[in-house]
Amino acid sequence: MKLIFEKHKEGRRGFSYGDCDVGKAKPLAEKYCRKRQAHLACLSELDVIRHYTNLSRLNYSVDTNFYPLGSCTMKYNPKFCEQIASLDGFSQLHPLLPQLSGGGMLAQGSLEVLYESEKLLCEITGMSAFTMQPLAGAHGELTGVMLIAAYHKNKGSRRKYVIVPDSSHGTNPSSAAIAGYEVVVIPTGSDGYMDLVEYKKHLTEELAAVMLTCPDTLGIFNPRIKEIADLAHACGALMYYDGANLNAMLGKCRPGDIGFDVMHINLHKTFATPHGGGGPGAGPVGVNEKLIEFLPISRVIRRADGTFALDYHQPKSIGYIAPFYGNFGVILKAYAYILHLGREGLIKAAEIAVLNANYCQAKLKKYYDLPFNKTCMHECVFSASRQAKNGVHALDIAKYLIDRGFHPPTIYFPLIVKEALMIEPTETESKETIDAFIEAMIEIARLAEENPSAVTAAPLRMPIKRLDEVRAARQPDLNWKPLALFPD
Ligand SMILES: *Cc1c(COP(=O)(O)O)cnc(C)c1O
Repeated sequence: MKLIFEKHKEGRRGFSYGDCDVGKAKPLAEKYCRKRQAHLACLSELDVIRHYTNLSRLNYSVDTNFYPLGSCTMKYNPKFCEQIASLDGFSQLHPLLPQLSGGGMLAQGSLEVLYESEKLLCEITGMSAFTMQPLAGAHGELTGVMLIAAYHKNKGSRRKYVIVPDSSHGTNPSSAAIAGYEVVVIPTGSDGYMDLVEYKKHLTEELAAVMLTCPDTLGIFNPRIKEIADLAHACGALMYYDGANLNAMLGKCRPGDIGFDVMHINLHKTFATPHGGGGPGAGPVGVNEKLIEFLPISRVIRRADGTFALDYHQPKSIGYIAPFYGNFGVILKAYAYILHLGREGLIKAAEIAVLNANYCQAKLKKYYDLPFNKTCMHECVFSASRQAKNGVHALDIAKYLIDRGFHPPTIYFPLIVKEALMIEPTETESKETIDAFIEAMIEIARLAEENPSAVTAAPLRMPIKRLDEVRAARQPDLNWKPLALFPD
């Protein structure tokens, strides 16, 4: 596809103003005027409409196709959530509106949404309080580790380490490191669980926290999670729950009940916000009683008369971690989604997500290596090692799936699985869609045996073919220069 600048035709216009019928303003001072042209493309309205409409058709999204990107929970997000988030009463609010203005009380509804969302998330997770401010999962992790640091500091205890398993998402060790801790990585045993012998060696007075994803990034629920938490608590450390995989747990098991002290939730994964392409997210952080006093300001409170207000008087708070109240629109969508599904709906979502993943796992297990052969939760992790022997790597499988109209699964993560293919079908896909995906995966396994180059040549049907990754890294060509189109 051409860039819009390459479609430029001198003098072409989308819109022309008539002659100006009011007096001319004084011209701008010389120093404010351009020395060179702005190089804006001249096009008709139709040129512009076609350009952007066709560009948008190159987008891949949950609204267009299956998107089994493991760990990301790319479920379908119902449009009623968008409608609610776009209601004027919410979308037109200024963040600096007085909380209680005259009789108007213009921000009360939004404060109530924040307050009630916090209560719902507490109910779902078994935590005592939430801050809705963090803007993504990783930001929630950093907030959570900062809360842990504030807790230890308040106790006068100097602790140096945070434990993460080697299956963890890269954001876990980096959040711990940014918050000032050294990271201890615990290996995963051949059974797919964190190696407890190794874990126990690091349970010292210097341990600040253990960060776990549960179910973990292999899609496996560790049955000894309570024991792991008890051991950490016995040496005064706290338990951090990475809630990216909460979709498997809704209504089944609450992190607060199994001993986690602090957690984040990726609202954009579990609770209805599309997030492909880096859209806005929200990573609310929940804590139990031990950490409430350290939560960021402001906190939304309910007064005795039933009105809501922002409270900034929290002397032990870690302070601000995001402007205003977080990504309010994302919180609002999650609130609408949770109320709409209700208790039974959320439980059912988790059950079907787990069922769908196990269905994929059972159907594909004959064709791909399954490094940890267990009932999985909401995602399953295969390895393409068998196919790699014939030169068909996880990356090739991903590219071939794109040709077949599917978004690839997550590949090469978790890092502990060679040639990892991490498939998360989510609860919103029909059996027909999942079957079509499984069929494509089986076809790839067959091609890897019979005709590997058919897979390694993919994608052939996409506007962009296989990129020369070495050249892209060595000689990156990242900006377009006007060249001869716009002579000065
Ligand atoms: C997505 C994810 C994160 C990070 O969340 P973001 O919202 O992308 O910052 C952390 N841990 C796990 C396991 C994840 O899947």
